[in-house]
Amino acid sequence: MSGTVYLVGAGPGAPDLLTLRAARLLERADIVFHDALVHPEVVALATRAVKVAVGKRCGRHSTAQRFICKRLVDAARDLAVVVRLKGGDPMLFGRAQEEIDALDAAGIRREVVPGVTAALAACAEIGVSLTRRGLARSAALVTPRTGEGEAPGEWTRAALAADSVAIYMGAGQAGTIAAALAAAGKPACTPVAIVENASLPQARRVAGTLGRLASLAARLGNGPAVILLGEAFAAVREAGAMSRRAA
Ligand code: SAH
Repeated sequence: MSGTVYLVGAGPGAPDLLTLRAARLLERADIVFHDALVHPEVVALATRAVKVAVGKRCGRHSTAQRFICKRLVDAARDLAVVVRLKGGDPMLFGRAQEEIDALDAAGIRREVVPGVTAALAACAEIGVSLTRRGLARSAALVTPRTGEGEAPGEWTRAALAADSVAIYMGAGQAGTIAAALAAAGKPACTPVAIVENASLPQARRVAGTLGRLASLAARLGNGPAVILLGEAFAAVREAGAMSRRAA
């Protein structure tokens, strides 16, 4: 009898944004395969589990996806509760589908536990609704990052069609993103905000317009960051962790 693999969302960073279901599964887990971005306090909830970091952070060492899929299948053959813990929501820009397909092909039971995704944590951080009434009736979650065999540039279509846009995995290439959006016809005066480390004590945000995106991004650190774009973000007030503490 094989076990079950749970693809669990760890939320955007703050450990207490974990769902109760996720916390209960972690307590029962025999083994946890976790991403690099998952907060250590969340991983520590898995008191009885073997913990395996299969971290993927851009520019750093990453464990090949195929190898992760194989390890999940192998673990479920030996153990009852296997948790694959991913930052934010496991199904958004997290390659969950490849893991689900591998588990299905191997006949392993699997369940998905959703989590709070980074774009929503970023909006919470700055107190702006992604669907602010009167300004935004649609929102797109996009990434300029392409996988093997995918055409670059396709993402700009969604970014032009939606009122509000959250761009994942993009802060490190803000100049290229701004140029691609401008070439696709997005006005340089479109309001933007970038939120780094949303939900964590070290959260920071910068705000301005699309034309200044590259210089805004250069003011942030190396933490994970979401770029937010659209009229809803015109009112974002800039503040970093320091000024919030001082307030
Ligand atoms: N599945 C995750 C996204 C994984 S892609 C989710 O649903 O949130 C990783 C990207 O998410 C990062 O490059 C960054 O764009 C964003 N991200 C993750 N955590 C973040 C945080 N605390 N603050 C801002 N952006 C974050």
